[in-house]
Order: sequence, then structure tokens, then C-alpha cells
Amino acid sequence: MLISLIVPCFNEEESLPTLFSALKEISTEVKQADSTKDFEYIFVNDGSSDKTLEVVKNFAADCSAVKYISFSRNFGKEAAMYAGLEKAKGEYVAILDADMQDPPSLIPQMIKALDNNECDIIAARRVTRVGEPKIRSFFARMFYKLINKMCEIEIADGARDFRLMKRNVVDAILKVNERQRFSKGIFSWVGFKTKWIEHENVERVAGETKWSFWKLFKYAIDGIVTFTTAPMRLATYCGFSSALAAFIYMLYYFIRAIILKIYNEVPGYPSLLCFILFIGGLILMALGVLGEYIGKIYIEVKHRPIYIEGESNIE
Ligand code: UDP
Ligand code: MG
Repeated sequence: MLISLIVPCFNEEESLPTLFSALKEISTEVKQADSTKDFEYIFVNDGSSDKTLEVVKNFAADCSAVKYISFSRNFGKEAAMYAGLEKAKGEYVAILDADMQDPPSLIPQMIKALDNNECDIIAARRVTRVGEPKIRSFFARMFYKLINKMCEIEIADGARDFRLMKRNVVDAILKVNERQRFSKGIFSWVGFKTKWIEHENVERVAGETKWSFWKLFKYAIDGIVTFTTAPMRLATYCGFSSALAAFIYMLYYFIRAIILKIYNEVPGYPSLLCFILFIGGLILMALGVLGEYIGKIYIEVKHRPIYIEGESNIE
């Protein structure tokens, strides 16, 4: 039985040697226990500007189980994962980061869980965020709370992309071939029985994280917009409640004029200004929300490929 290990790599020349030797060690261990198991390693070079591709090519020269695909430019981790899943031929398929933050040592027990038919997907979840900036952890928690409130699907806090899946799950994920990929959501959207392995946060072995705070923020917005239309509904509710408030306010003045005969009260300029600004803000916000969705539709209908292959040793 073939097991595919997919590694998306973007400027990972420093961490790849450590990862690859760990993976080889794990695979020998697994093969010793069960000789029917075989491995293939799929390195997806996501337009790295360092020597990542050379490093991977060296691996391939030494080991025929190493497959690589190199993108024509940086398309992002989501595209890299999709490409890897597309190329994987294994009965079981795993995705793991190049920086050792997804401990390869968990792989044998993941394989065992699938062998025992305990589940179709076995995914890693980190239960701590030590070593991560506090503010980043805080916003990450907020994001998970928010998205879980808004979407029907459940996205576990601390869930990583690190997981081992059976073939039928991979095929289901490949069918979700939208361009705006938010894999954490897609993994849960396709369903199937998922089990979690919990682990402590591990800091990356070398190099730097590719995620700035701003990039993560945009990723969070994309995640919400691609998985739920709740923000549009929120805009509708806001519009409706401010219209209702305006109506009550109008009624109040109307009654005052008829019953109390107060007609022309000149003061009220500041409150008028406040209302105009407030409503203007709401309208702009609603337009912005609408724009987010229209932008997504625009990109989706163009139907461009998810990634462009530069070179590869996979037929
Ligand atoms: N990655 C990628 N393309 C990108 C950014 C990242 O393929 O545009 C890969 C990266 O090489 C690593 C994984 O995605 O294997 C996770 O990236 P990183 O460690 O920077 O993210 P973090 O662990 O900090 O969330
Ligand atoms: Mg990392």
C-alpha cells in the first residue's frame, strides 16, 4: 500500500534536510513493522526564491520515491496543497509543513489509526500556542470563535493542515476545485469521520514564518467570505435596524408636532450630522461587504488554474 507524504515548500532550503531525514527514518520504521507499506514524498516548490528546488532535486537524485512539482511563481500554500493532492497516488495521503512544526513522529500512529478503520481522516491539532506572539494567538482564537458562530461547518481551534487521509477523502477534496481555497474549511466541509491527535506547539526548525500579521488577517477574512454569507446578512440586519430606528424617530417628531404642536425647533444640527455620518458609514460598510463577495465571484468565474506548473518529475 502506497502512502503519499505531501510537503508544500516556500523558501525552505534550511529546514528541508532535517525534515527529509526525519521522514526517511519514519518510513523505514513503518516499513519494518509492515512490509506492505511503501512511501512517496511529494515536494511542492511554491515558487521559492532560494535553493529549495535544488535541494529537492538532490533528494530526488538520491531516492526514487521523491517526486517534486515546482510552480512558475508563488501561488500560496493552499495551491501547493491542492497540487500535491492532485499528484498523490497513495492509498493514504498526508500533508505536512516543511518546517517540522507538524511532527513527523506522529505519522506511524496516524497510519495505525487508519489501518484500524478508526476514522477516514486523522488530523493534528495543537493544544498550546507557546512560542507564538501573544497578540497573534489572541486574534487566532477570536477568528475561530467567529467563524464557528457564522458557518455551519466546524473548524477546530488549533487545527492544522497536518493530516492523513484515505483515498476517498482526497478524491472528495479534489472535487472541491474552487480557486479561493480555504482548506481548513474544505477539510471539514467534505465530511467523513475525523479523529484528532493533540500535540504541543513546535517551533519551526529554521527559517522564518511566511505569515505576517497582515497576511493572516487577510486569510481570516478570506476564510469567512469563502465559507459563509453571514456578513451580508449582518449588513441587511444593520440596514433594517437603522431604518427602523429612523422610522421611530420620525414617528416621535410627527406625534410631537401633532399633539404638542412643536413645529420648528432649530437646534439639532449635531445630532443630524451624527446620524448622517452613521448611516453613511453603514452604507459604506455594507458596500464593502458586498464588494468582498463580488470580488470573490469575479475571481471564481474567471476560472483560472489554481497553479501553473513550472517543472516536475511526475508523469
Ligand atoms: N508555504 C507555501 N507557500 C506559501 C507560504 C508557505 O508553500 O506561500 C509552506 C511553507 O513552506 C511551510 C508551510 O506552508 O511548509 C507553512 O508555512 P509557515 O511555516 O510559514 O506557516 P506557519 O507555520 O507559521 O503558520
Ligand atoms: Mg510553520
